[in-house]
Amino acid sequence: MAQEKIFKDTADFEKQYREACMADLSKKFEDCTQLERYQVLATLIAKKSRNVGIGTHQKGEKKVYYFSLEFLLGPLLDNYLLNLGVHDLVAKGVEDMGGSLETICRQEADPGLGNGGLGRLAACFLDSMAHEGIAGYGNGMRYHYGLFRQVIEGGRQVEKTDNWLENGFPWESRRDSGTVIVQFGGRVVRHEDETGRYWFTQEGGEKVRAVPYDVPIVGYGTKKVNHLRLWSAEPYEENFDLDAFNAGDYAKANKFRSDVEAISTILYPNDSGEHGKILRLKQEYLFVSAGLQTILGTYERDFGPDWEHLADHVAIHTNDTHPAMCGPELMRILVDERGVDFDLAFKIAKQTISYTNHTVMPEALEKWPIDTFRALMPRLYMFIEEIDRRYRESFPHTFDDWGEMLKNTAILWDGQVRMANLSIIFSHSVNGVSALHTSILEEGVLKDFYRLNPEMFNNKTNGVSHRRFLAEANPSYARLISGAIGTGWLDDAFELEKLTAYEDDAGFLDEMEKAKLADKQRLAAYVKETSGVDLDCSMVFDVQVKRFHAYKRQLLNVFKILDIYNRILADPHFDPRPTAFIFSGKAAQSYTFAKEVIRLINSVADVVNNDPRVNDKIKVAFVPNFAVSSAQLIYPAAEISEQISTAGTEASGTSNMKLMMNAAITLGTYDGANVEIAKLVGDENIKIFGLRTEEVEALHASGRYFAWDQYNTDRERLGRVVDMLSDGSLARLSGNFESIHDYLMVSNDPDLVLRDFRSYVNAWDELTTAYGDRAAWNKSALHNTAKAGYFSSDRTIREYMSDIWHIEA
Ligand SMILES: *Cc1c(COP(=O)(O)O)cnc(C)c1O
Repeated sequence: MAQEKIFKDTADFEKQYREACMADLSKKFEDCTQLERYQVLATLIAKKSRNVGIGTHQKGEKKVYYFSLEFLLGPLLDNYLLNLGVHDLVAKGVEDMGGSLETICRQEADPGLGNGGLGRLAACFLDSMAHEGIAGYGNGMRYHYGLFRQVIEGGRQVEKTDNWLENGFPWESRRDSGTVIVQFGGRVVRHEDETGRYWFTQEGGEKVRAVPYDVPIVGYGTKKVNHLRLWSAEPYEENFDLDAFNAGDYAKANKFRSDVEAISTILYPNDSGEHGKILRLKQEYLFVSAGLQTILGTYERDFGPDWEHLADHVAIHTNDTHPAMCGPELMRILVDERGVDFDLAFKIAKQTISYTNHTVMPEALEKWPIDTFRALMPRLYMFIEEIDRRYRESFPHTFDDWGEMLKNTAILWDGQVRMANLSIIFSHSVNGVSALHTSILEEGVLKDFYRLNPEMFNNKTNGVSHRRFLAEANPSYARLISGAIGTGWLDDAFELEKLTAYEDDAGFLDEMEKAKLADKQRLAAYVKETSGVDLDCSMVFDVQVKRFHAYKRQLLNVFKILDIYNRILADPHFDPRPTAFIFSGKAAQSYTFAKEVIRLINSVADVVNNDPRVNDKIKVAFVPNFAVSSAQLIYPAAEISEQISTAGTEASGTSNMKLMMNAAITLGTYDGANVEIAKLVGDENIKIFGLRTEEVEALHASGRYFAWDQYNTDRERLGRVVDMLSDGSLARLSGNFESIHDYLMVSNDPDLVLRDFRSYVNAWDELTTAYGDRAAWNKSALHNTAKAGYFSSDRTIREYMSDIWHIEA
């Protein structure tokens, strides 16, 4: 299966690497800085990858285009060496040259192209599409700056510019010849010829050049090398104001350029408060239009204007609603630029496009004011309006409540364009990302669409790249696994199941514990370096790392820590399992509550870590600037995986999968993919607590939930913790936490933190007690790894291929 290796042997690698140092920098390897060593090696591997890619594609094969505003790639060098099958060879070669591959890899900046789970999913899918051997391409935006670089000052999150391109991005290559024009604004003009045939053009407005940059995507075993195409916005004409420049007004002279370039300047947060930004809408249209123009151009070159068969050769997948304009834009290009009939164009769009929903939170559903939308995309809007009109006109009156159904499913309503409805009406497939999430879509948020077209709905439980997050991130454990069951699991993650044969092998479990200890030491060094906290590696590593959001309930975790702290001080006989609580994650810049929770964690860390009465029992660490690179250090070291969202709120979660793979035991609610983890590993190998989705819904619906009742019935423990938010106990670092107190007690605890508190701390007590039986714990931990094969994104992609994209490997 694997092609010829890119280096014959260590000597061949060494020769080529030395030559590349000379050619690129006119320097000997020995005289290069670590950063230069990285840049030369990455450039060399990128070039080799593109060469390997030639010939891995067959003419006529079906192509999948994955449209996503985010691809959270993480560092690529180490990963590509693994996928190209030369990792150990290169490591050995670099060592022979007197360097260290690990040090070189650490120079690579995390590309700032995604927020969190959604963007990381897209990156895992690229990896798996290449591994499964299909022509699967990413289509996204090349943001000049990432979200932000998080630093902690006085316990608070402070946002610094994430200039991830500062030292260049050796993996990309600019493709000027692929530049396309995207048009914003202006007015639509109707033309008619003598025969009565009419057509429309969009006149005036602003023309923007979309310039593509391609990043090679190397699949393990190199069956395919695909690419991710990232679009950058540049001015169409140099429309340079020479008069202004000569008058010394440089800002005015360059305004045209900077207005256009702003479109691809920065990645927006995907949660809270950032809706309605015109620049965001421009980003969405730019990458949709540029991507589709390119796809149709390629198709026409290969197949001619045979548009009716587009869906036989092309699948367009839309990751969430950010690419929702794909449907109308595809129609616009076909109708206005290729002369296809309106009805046929709609049929083609629907056959070609599919959509993944990622959230059930009504406030996260994307909407745009019609006026804003129409002003920016006047011609596109006409297609939406006409499809919406026909949708209303042909709406079946077979349901008693059809009026209500129409209201819920129409694209245009109340002066707004509803992007989820737009996505669905232009797609042939709608999927959720875990079994629970899909059923919530069918019975809740999207129930009317489901009643109308149940056959459109399907579930595709998320997955993660087990090669990146187990093989690459956790080499000590991976070596142990491969020693026991061979390396076939890299290709087929279901082979991890063979590990069940070792669950009672005391020698193996011992080795496993040693590997975990090495991972904990590696993380402890990183934590010390980045946050100054000293972690004792004999403590349990209890980990919650993810974006900060109320529904993810980092606050509940903090309450547990404060409760343990209080119990240690109050009761000399209370002897909890010594535990290090590790947090990491960013909060959106404008999400005040989430940022206060970060400040709270750092204040609790300040109190706990400086109190000698508890220091041999608990420690708290906040690791700044969570990213794929730091995630790869944190997941392997975890022993407890905190997945504690309010049931019914987390669509799937993927850190739950990455952590289970790395032999952490889940402490979680029945939410998202936790439900499926529980089913796979069995109740004895996971710790579930808290209300179930139906109970949460019933409690909210009853109107009988009162935060103060919770407080009053558990004064001693829960009440005490709530009081600490405002009584000065935690104020030393940067003041009290009145707003969190109010969120709980005045806004009546929307996420049911207080309701699940007792069930959670009891579950934690039981789980950490179980930790004492090392053999039993390790057996259970190994069982988690053994059952994790299902959560490889290879499996997820195979399901997309067969059920949605209709494509064979
Ligand atoms: C996996 C991953 C996430 C998603 O974590 P969840 O706990 O599923 O929200 C976010 N950020 C990074 C860097 C990740 O690797």
